[in-house]
Amino acid sequence: METKIFQSEELDYAAKLLKNGELVAFPTETVYGLGADALLPESVKQVFQVKGRPSDNPLIVHVADFEMTKPFVEKYHPLTEKIVQYFWPGPLTLIFPIKKNSLSPIVTGGLSTAAFRMPDNKKTLELIQKTEAPLVGPSANTSGKPSPTTAEHVFHDLKGKIAGILDDGATQIGVESTVLDLSGETPVILRPGAVTKEKLEKVLQTKIFLDKHLVKESETPKAPGMKYKHYAPDTPVLMVGDEDWDQAIKWGQKNRKRMALLAGPSIAAKYQVADRYVFMDDTVEAATHGLYSGLRALDEADGSDVILAQVFTENELGAAYMNRLKKAAAQNYFDKN
Ligand code: AMP
Ligand code: MG
Repeated sequence: METKIFQSEELDYAAKLLKNGELVAFPTETVYGLGADALLPESVKQVFQVKGRPSDNPLIVHVADFEMTKPFVEKYHPLTEKIVQYFWPGPLTLIFPIKKNSLSPIVTGGLSTAAFRMPDNKKTLELIQKTEAPLVGPSANTSGKPSPTTAEHVFHDLKGKIAGILDDGATQIGVESTVLDLSGETPVILRPGAVTKEKLEKVLQTKIFLDKHLVKESETPKAPGMKYKHYAPDTPVLMVGDEDWDQAIKWGQKNRKRMALLAGPSIAAKYQVADRYVFMDDTVEAATHGLYSGLRALDEADGSDVILAQVFTENELGAAYMNRLKKAAAQNYFDKN
């Protein structure tokens, strides 16, 4: 199969392909999604096959507006209206209990709840409208690899396996959406993202809880997808604390490691190592934006023994950045002792 790259003037054609059951990757503000009509179980099955995604990991249903969730949702949490008004379109996925048989168990992993999001990307919202159906859209990468933040990343992983990719340049945020469970009495964050705990608490004036897995790694996560080792490049990644860079570099030199560096300009300016991916600036926003691109680039830059990566404090957006980085690093920090 030839994988076509679509520009915005080809939206009608891309929507037609989706209606015919084909897979088309789409841009969002977080990462690129692998789109299929959520109401065509055979197409949704293909999404799992193409990605190599475990079938117990349910998909997010992407909608063009809140109205589109209504045929599926059994009951909305009392905070829903306020949350949707404030955060949609945006990087916030909401979990609701659903009406029996309203969505295929292939989409929901057989759960009685489902995940919904309205992405903040004009072209993709138009694509959903033109398809006249919600779209499933897991990250458009091979399962276990860093999520794609450009159409080129999608092409690299899925060329020949999907009908097309709607290209809209690099995504803005760079990591997947926050997943907020609204199926119980109290809202719980199952996956941290750009809509942070702090932001939600400020807007909603209520305490937002974290899934116990986010507090203690060994606990079973409520979001099935969170249990998988995600986002891992082939080269081992070591996280380096701010104070430990000198020693990490010395350790690498002493042990003749070919080191790659993933960090902001202030850290990068101090060290000359083989391969480098420098974030746009020293902020956590820039680091989050560059995290997956950086991991991919360094992994392909052949021959590094280890990727040394910058850490951030685990609050606000830093919680999302560190959640993904820890998975890429299989929890490993450079240990100066
Ligand atoms: P992805 O599409 O790869 O960004 O992953 C979607 C995330 O949402 C995964 O971690 C899923 O396990 C999670 N998810 C989707 N539906 C549900 C649900 N009904 N309950 C809990 N987690 C869900
Ligand atoms: Mg994914």
